[in-house]
Amino acid sequence: MTAITIPANFTELGLIPPLLARLTELEYQQPTPIQAQAIPSILAGRDLIAGANTGSGKTATFALPLLQQIHAEKPLSSKNSKGNYVTGLILVPTRELAKQVADSIKSYAVHFNGSIKTIAVFGGVSVNTQMLALRGGADILVATPGRLLDLISSNAIKLDLVKTLVLDEADRMLSLGFTEELSAIRALLPKKKQILLFSATFPEEVKSLTEELLNDPIEIQVQSADASTLVQRVFTVNKGQKTALLAHLIKENKWRQVLIFVNAKNSCNHLADKLSKRGVTAEVFHGDKGQAARSRVLEAFKSGEIDVLIATDIAARGLDIEKLPVVINFDLPRSPSDYMHRIGRSGRAGEVGLALSLIDHEDYHHFNVIEKKNKIRLEREEVAGFEAGEFTRDAFSAPEKPMAKPEGSGKKKNKNKVQINADIWLRNS
Ligand code: AMP
Repeated sequence: MTAITIPANFTELGLIPPLLARLTELEYQQPTPIQAQAIPSILAGRDLIAGANTGSGKTATFALPLLQQIHAEKPLSSKNSKGNYVTGLILVPTRELAKQVADSIKSYAVHFNGSIKTIAVFGGVSVNTQMLALRGGADILVATPGRLLDLISSNAIKLDLVKTLVLDEADRMLSLGFTEELSAIRALLPKKKQILLFSATFPEEVKSLTEELLNDPIEIQVQSADASTLVQRVFTVNKGQKTALLAHLIKENKWRQVLIFVNAKNSCNHLADKLSKRGVTAEVFHGDKGQAARSRVLEAFKSGEIDVLIATDIAARGLDIEKLPVVINFDLPRSPSDYMHRIGRSGRAGEVGLALSLIDHEDYHHFNVIEKKNKIRLEREEVAGFEAGEFTRDAFSAPEKPMAKPEGSGKKKNKNKVQINADIWLRNS
């Protein structure tokens, strides 16, 4: 086996001074494992399949070499600026991720002094503004597939000269929901191009698709060292006590930024109402909200104005909320890979984080599957005052569980145990 030397700093990765200067300003002291392994191959023009934990620095992994390549070819490609062409195309599954990725790229590019044009396009907002922004083309376009196709059909953008295609959250982009849109986009791309796929998870069915898409790709699987900073816990609770336990945990631990996942849009409002009756104010984030409201809520949550956000899985992908301390699965995600995406909202880039799942008897089997697929095994814990009784393999046929005691009536010893541990998860709160 050939030994591979992994570069330990950004200079050794082959990045150019305008990018290095920016990384110093951003206080990125060294490349993350995925950056160290992938950037040299991307700069060399190779196709790539990268599996890395979310929060591991994936955006910079593709953004830095992409900017460098575009900068190097700028004089050659300047003729493109007369048409509506794009050089680097990044496809993402959600609007928020499109904006976030484009903002990161713009930030990495500040020392190119505006010579590299990066635009984000996504649905839910006026198409006209985006059409105007696309006049003269873009060097880098970050797009959700549906809006991209709309813009193509109105001749606002052409994909004929795309040199690099990035699929961020690739497992989602290659899943059934995007099949038609993605094949329509692929048909418009030139045959020769570099393709980079990034995702925390690559389920089997997606792997076979990647084989036909990529040309002799480098495959990199990085288990980020940061994963160890994310503590995963699971609390068992009776179904009827879930909301009470949630409110109790939020209040007792004084959690100030907590992201709660549920499985349906109406469950967001329903849970927010129930929490409100228990003295916990929460905002909701789901696909039925208008884009302006979605952006407003997300910004307020990011800035700490909102303490509790209840969201569907549209918030599970790629969102980078700085120092997000707690993610809670109130409903378990349907797919085991979504569990990884959800919990990856916390414990990012070396920050300490807590991912907590509240499971009742009906969730028991499904949580076993989630653990098995993700190769984890967590101890089932209980919170004093909310005991769910014994969880067995055969939970459905288990005898009726005793009712949980009212909030706060549990044995002090156990209650303290949970709180002491909870304190460890908290950061400066
Ligand atoms: P991402 O996985 O791309 O969403 O990145 C997660 C977070 O890590 C973002 O806030 C980045 O700004 C940050 N980040 C990316 N690369 C580095 C690095 N080499 N050193 C420190 N922070 C980084």
